[in-house]
Amino acid sequence: MIDSHEYPEDAYLVGGANNLLIGPEHPPLMKLSKAFDYIKIVDNQLHIGAATPGGKVVSFCKKHDLANFEFVAHLPGTLGGMLQMNAGLKEYEIFNHLHKVYFKDGYQLLGDIEYGYRTTNIDKVAFEGIFELEKGFDLSKIDMFKQMRANQPHDPSAGSFFKNPIGDYAGRLIEEVGLKGHRIGGMAYSDKHANFMVNLGKGTFDDAIALMQLAQKRVLESFEILLENEVAIIDRRFMN
Ligand SMILES: Cc1cc2nc3c(=O)[nH]c(=O)nc-3n(C[C@H](O)[C@H](O)[C@H](O)COP(=O)(O)OP(=O)(O)OC[C@H]3O[C@@H](n4cnc5c(N)ncnc54)[C@H](O)[C@@H]3O)c2cc1C
Repeated sequence: MIDSHEYPEDAYLVGGANNLLIGPEHPPLMKLSKAFDYIKIVDNQLHIGAATPGGKVVSFCKKHDLANFEFVAHLPGTLGGMLQMNAGLKEYEIFNHLHKVYFKDGYQLLGDIEYGYRTTNIDKVAFEGIFELEKGFDLSKIDMFKQMRANQPHDPSAGSFFKNPIGDYAGRLIEEVGLKGHRIGGMAYSDKHANFMVNLGKGTFDDAIALMQLAQKRVLESFEILLENEVAIIDRRFMN
């Protein structure tokens, strides 16, 4: 557990572990302690500790009538995990209202961080995000975001398994190559939404990897598109 701005360089940082596939050959793991679970208004800006769960952010915004974080309501994870991948729902993304991020060597402004669709160049521990403050919590958006998730399975998953390739949808491609509902061992591509790899009970890391590689192979052969995983694979054999 990390409770200061010092941390070992060889350990892998876990946030809420919602977007990870952890194998038996994982490196040492670390996590930010409760010291980084906070949210406060300072000088008309919102300061959020990286270990703060999304649900807490939404409750705070509702209580203080603040806008722009409604999409986080049904997005599992901590602020740190959301920052690292620029998490979001359609065009609503965590970077949209970000001002700067605190790392152990100081603040980095939004303009100094590279980011795009579900990606950033953040490769060190983020301790805090600072956001613009805007009034107006919109309750109707909570319902809208819930509706946008209506086609997602309730079985355990890590969310979307692959990133959507430019101009297409990973789920559509997986379905096209006949893998919607396809099962290997205890893991399957959901029959509700093909880009969700679900654990049907006793799924293993090897089952998940076999399914991942099968979809990548078939989609590459049929469409010449290499599906890139959105889920981070934490096992030395698959990390570069
Ligand atoms: C059912 C379900 C639905 C989902 N739907 C969506 C969705 O609609 N949109 C979306 O974007 N995501 C979605 N996800 C994925 C997940 O919610 C996000 O990826 C979220 O950002 C993960 O946060 P986490 O704290 O669990 O991070 P983790 O899964 O623990 O880690 C993810 C990555 O972030 C890094 N990281 C964690 N904390 C920090 C930090 N403090 N500093 C630097 N790097 C850090 C980790 O090292 C890792 O590389 C979904 C997941 C599930 C299970």
